[in-house]
Amino acid sequence: MKELLSPESLMMTHGYEPAWSEGAIKAPLFMTSTFTFNTAEEGKSFFELAYGLREKEQEEQLGLIYSRINNPNLEILENRLCLWDKADDCAVFESGMSAISTTLLEFLSPGDLLLFSSPTYGGTDHFINHFLQKIGVHAVGFYPQESKAEIIQRIVETGHSKQLAHIYIETPANPTNALIDIKMCKEIAQHFSTAEKEVLISVDNTYMGPLWSNPLQHGADLVIYSATKYIGGHSDVIAGAVLGSDKLIKRVKTLRTFLGNMASPHTCWLLLRSLETLKVRMEQQARNAKDLARFLAGHPAVEWVCFLGSLDVSSRAYRIYKEQYSSSGAMISFYIKGGEKEAFAFLNALKLIKLAVSLGSTESLVQHPASMTHIGLCPVLKARIGITDSLIRLSVGVENSRDLIWDINQALGVVRSVAVNDETICV
Ligand SMILES: *Cc1c(COP(=O)(O)O)cnc(C)c1O
Repeated sequence: MKELLSPESLMMTHGYEPAWSEGAIKAPLFMTSTFTFNTAEEGKSFFELAYGLREKEQEEQLGLIYSRINNPNLEILENRLCLWDKADDCAVFESGMSAISTTLLEFLSPGDLLLFSSPTYGGTDHFINHFLQKIGVHAVGFYPQESKAEIIQRIVETGHSKQLAHIYIETPANPTNALIDIKMCKEIAQHFSTAEKEVLISVDNTYMGPLWSNPLQHGADLVIYSATKYIGGHSDVIAGAVLGSDKLIKRVKTLRTFLGNMASPHTCWLLLRSLETLKVRMEQQARNAKDLARFLAGHPAVEWVCFLGSLDVSSRAYRIYKEQYSSSGAMISFYIKGGEKEAFAFLNALKLIKLAVSLGSTESLVQHPASMTHIGLCPVLKARIGITDSLIRLSVGVENSRDLIWDINQALGVVRSVAVNDETICV
């Protein structure tokens, strides 16, 4: 049935039998740390599988042992998440950062080289440049505009090209929607792979979400989410997920067992509830984003809008967009005319849209990357990737787009009157 039906039709039922729980239509919250074995032989057989001492029989599922290893809420959630990305398996974590750090720890060893796209999420950047560096993992960043030859050149210049082990990319990139060609990264990975060592690719797909882009289909080995964003979608839970082949996810899950950073039953239960409305939420968010991007582009106080729905059709970004995505998503950033003063006047004047970081939720959120999420970046990098004092990032929610436009319009009006007043004082 899984092959026949669309993911949105399976989000309410897949992987759960009401008969397991007195006919309850919804999977209950399995608040239990441990599970009883019917016999000692059964317990032994579960442990053999969990510790990789024997291969799974055909159709065999790992029996329930202990909630750090498995739990019904965790397993149902992982099975449902697989449907969107057409992945073999999935590992869910208590945060996006634990999904990212566990994956990088599993696939990198001291002496290895990691290639990553810049900018990357602040927490990921810190983990790569501080923690991984401390344990002897080398890292080199590249920019979205760079060509395959330029990136290969960067790798060679590190002097560690033989140790290239992993490519980590974030596309669309936060906060400007810059795009990275996954196919090109695959070619780079193949260029440096040898018979003994395959260079793997992970894609952080948080910014687009699982509906309209499936990096595994474009050559990625692993796809990673902060499930705090679109998947959770209600700004009430922190979680993360990694998806990929059985073989790779087994490795991630094994490390997760020993780090103990799996998601709790309650987190999983909340995410199961969120998944039922993932598609309707995201479709409404993307529709609203189109309306808002169009309005912003036509407003005299706005300099430029970064939105996947308004790319120049002759650009490289447009070609990547058409190949990798089937929607323009719900993230917009735009440059307001002026600088920090005008940007702050706008942010402070909004009435409906909330001033907060995070994204992908039902309510629209707005923030100022240069002084908030990206404040830690060095000025050269900020300038290179277009994070200026006039940049504003908008995560579009499910509200009525007319109300969102009304709010943005009145706040931009306040900015203009502030600017006019200042001019009068100067004179
Ligand atoms: C939020 C975010 C993360 C980190 O996820 P948490 O759930 O906050 O740990 C990683 N990558 C991207 C692109 C994000 O937006």
